[in-house]
Amino acid sequence: MKITELTVHELQDKLASGELTVTQITKAYTDRIQEKEGQVEAFVTTLTDEATEEAKKMEEKIASGEIKSSLAGIPIGIKDNMCTKGVRTTCSSRMLENFVAPYDATVIEKINEQGMINLGKLNMDEFAMGASTEYSYFKKTKNPWNLNTVPGGSSGGSAAAVAAQMVPWALGSDTGGSIRQPAAFCGVVGLKPTYGLVSRYGLVAFASSLDQIGPITKDVRDAAILLNVIAGHDEKDSTSQNIEKKDYTKALEKDIKGIKIGVPKEYFGEGINPEVKEKLMQAIEEYKKMGAEVEEFSLDIAKYALATYYIVACAEASSNLGRFDGIRYGYRTKNFTNLKDIYKNSRSEGFGPEVKRRIILGTYVLSSGYYDAYYKKAQLVRTLVMKEFEKAFAKYDVLLTPTSPTVAFEIGTRSNNPLEMYLADICTVSVNIAGLPGISIPCGVDSKGMPVGMQLIGNRFQEEKILNAAYAYEQKTNFRKTYQPEFKK
Ligand code: GLN
Repeated sequence: MKITELTVHELQDKLASGELTVTQITKAYTDRIQEKEGQVEAFVTTLTDEATEEAKKMEEKIASGEIKSSLAGIPIGIKDNMCTKGVRTTCSSRMLENFVAPYDATVIEKINEQGMINLGKLNMDEFAMGASTEYSYFKKTKNPWNLNTVPGGSSGGSAAAVAAQMVPWALGSDTGGSIRQPAAFCGVVGLKPTYGLVSRYGLVAFASSLDQIGPITKDVRDAAILLNVIAGHDEKDSTSQNIEKKDYTKALEKDIKGIKIGVPKEYFGEGINPEVKEKLMQAIEEYKKMGAEVEEFSLDIAKYALATYYIVACAEASSNLGRFDGIRYGYRTKNFTNLKDIYKNSRSEGFGPEVKRRIILGTYVLSSGYYDAYYKKAQLVRTLVMKEFEKAFAKYDVLLTPTSPTVAFEIGTRSNNPLEMYLADICTVSVNIAGLPGISIPCGVDSKGMPVGMQLIGNRFQEEKILNAAYAYEQKTNFRKTYQPEFKK
């Protein structure tokens, strides 16, 4: 097997046995980036020279015993909305095209402590707003399974880079589905942790009450390993929870016999592609064979989740993006004679159309005349969504749904129709609304060979349960060994 085909836990084993060195692993990845980046366009910034240097240093540190982590020397890719000291963080926006953060995000500090090697910053929809990575100011990332299709979004660069084996794993962020949906489109694993499990310090804010950072990996074990690294309380993020530190790999191999899986029927109704539905039905049969108790139920409130999400997310975005004023940092217009012009022209020239649409929508729902009708109502519905999920988790251990109603769509087919684009997240947003953990794992391919994603949702801070259920299915079906992207044009 080629080095870049291995999972991180396989790389760890080979490092431990001496079969591979850090330099060999890093070289395999930098070569792979050289080979595939032209086709896939997953990176905003590549750090291949820096990574090669870093690998040498890391080898010395490992040899001298200065660093002991079994992840030392493992490469990683980072979505370009997480601050990296000395390396630009663009959010794929003209606004931050040349922005270099003076500090590392907490998750970056954590991966650095382990001695991981950053291969570069990955492309995304501008400010994480989108579901296809077509809203990047810089480039359109392609889905390695079919280069005419989108990789999903907004963490499309992260998912495509993992699928194309240009990084062994990556960090993404998920506000309404941006880890899980691209993972589904690219046939990889994506985990959105419980709100508050992973620090958001140094993550450029989109919608602060919904945003979470999480792993995008080749398999479920790697997702658990990376979650072990990034989870934990952080004083610098007041919404981060102080809960006991866990080892998420421990629960993976537990027998799932007798676990209760709830299937909300609303997620399988109108609008779901029949082939996607068929794959999900097969997965449900697989779970039954493994001894899980599967039951259909109604999560009626889910139909309001998408509208609620777009009100809350846009409201928070309009406020969060107020800081980009052309004064403190980021893009400044050349065209001004007074202060007001600096604000207006910097924002007009620095932001792309989708970001502007959200700022306008968010400002509108927060305006005094419409606050009660939209924002306040959305907050009330949000509470109802949480309560409905609470009821469901009184009965079930995990919930099973499609990750997205369709497989990856063709580039250009939705980018001019925001409502169509918003529908790509209909299955994922309620998880963020309720602050729950959710994982997407591949469950087969459709008749055109495109991957289908299955979403497993858990109760708050019960990542172990969804990881356990995901792992059991993965072991049974072995998607990764059966299917690989072919880079079809
Ligand atoms: N696609 C959704 C949106 O456009 C979700 C984005 C995200 O999770 N960052 O808002």
